[in-house]
Amino acid sequence: MQVGIPRETLPGETRVAATPETVKKLVQAGHQVRVERGAGTAARYPDADYEKAGAELADAQAALGGELVLKVRRPDASELGRMKPGAVLLGMLDPFDPEGLRALAGAGLTAFALEAAPRTTRAQSLDVLSSQANLAGYKAVLLATQYYGRIFPMMMTAAGTLKAARVVVLGAGVAGLQAIATARRLGAVVEASDVRPAAREQVESLGGKFIDVPYETDEEREIAEGVGGYARPMPAAWMARQAALVAERCKQADIVITTALIPGRPAPTLIQPDTVAAMKPGSVIVDLAVERGGNCPLSVPGEVVERDGVTLVGLANLPALLATDASALYARNVLDFLKLVIDAEGRFAPPADDDIVNACLVCKDGQVLRSA
Ligand code: NAD
Repeated sequence: MQVGIPRETLPGETRVAATPETVKKLVQAGHQVRVERGAGTAARYPDADYEKAGAELADAQAALGGELVLKVRRPDASELGRMKPGAVLLGMLDPFDPEGLRALAGAGLTAFALEAAPRTTRAQSLDVLSSQANLAGYKAVLLATQYYGRIFPMMMTAAGTLKAARVVVLGAGVAGLQAIATARRLGAVVEASDVRPAAREQVESLGGKFIDVPYETDEEREIAEGVGGYARPMPAAWMARQAALVAERCKQADIVITTALIPGRPAPTLIQPDTVAAMKPGSVIVDLAVERGGNCPLSVPGEVVERDGVTLVGLANLPALLATDASALYARNVLDFLKLVIDAEGRFAPPADDDIVNACLVCKDGQVLRSA
């Protein structure tokens, strides 16, 4: 197939959907690969390395005009205008945004939103949410260290002893667990909360303490189990008990990292403004959910702000701050997905009965297939 790798155009998006490593594999498999000049520059993959891997360097028009186009983010109207009807698009396409999907369909595309892959063992190697959230969780902790005026580990010095930082992580999914592991490696004392009962063991296995909000009814327990590994919105009574406990833990904390998300919905509010006001001056909140409305209403998307002496880090798209590794993992995810939809002769031949392929297929031949 003719495969196009355009440069990402969304402001701040430094990642690229294919690296020289994955391009080489595509070329070896017999595909003709066109990489837009500069596509990998922000992720530190020079044009020359793509050429060495067997790609042809091209302009945006040629890269977007491929039969198969590999993207990180959903193409905007101008990019869509340069894509060919009937082309196949792969990327993180926001499967819960019906208007965006209609735009893809309007361009006559067959599109796969990789975020929609099921959280199953077979889908692990192509799971873009995991590969990117893992890096985001790590970076969130490093950002916290940057804005925190103290150190993380306990340190005994001739001039006195410094106490270990207390870190609270809200939401112990992929990003939260990596944040716990990273904060622990730096020597912090870590506590974490999640709705899902399975999270307790995972938090504890990383050396964190689980903030327990006991379920009081069968309904609460059942909702907390979630669906397909994902959380569902919890009943108001549980949320109120969690808020009280979280407020108490946050007052003791130096760093709070929030990662709580519910697919297809705004992020749950976990830290109220009065909790922020009661936190210690100099403490830091990193809100990884900021792009979905935030776990704290005081976080400002794309900004670092200070309220009541507390620094709120609302920087968006943390994986883009680690563009080299984020692209390397994303590009391998993409390659693994392609193995499912390209046959041994190198033709696009998606199997009709594959659960991963069907979950990701959001548009086919110009029709939206998903009702969000
Ligand atoms: P996510 O990004 O959708 O959400 C982050 C976390 O926030 C989740 O753990 C969720 O339970 C939690 N959360 C939601 N509402 C909350 C609230 N009110 N209070 C506290 N926490 C709240 O989730 P994710 O990181 O993508 O992971 C979701 C699940 O999928 C996890 O169980 C993870 O282990 C699992 N998973 C499985 C696979 C696999 O088997 N292939 C791969 C990746 C993730």
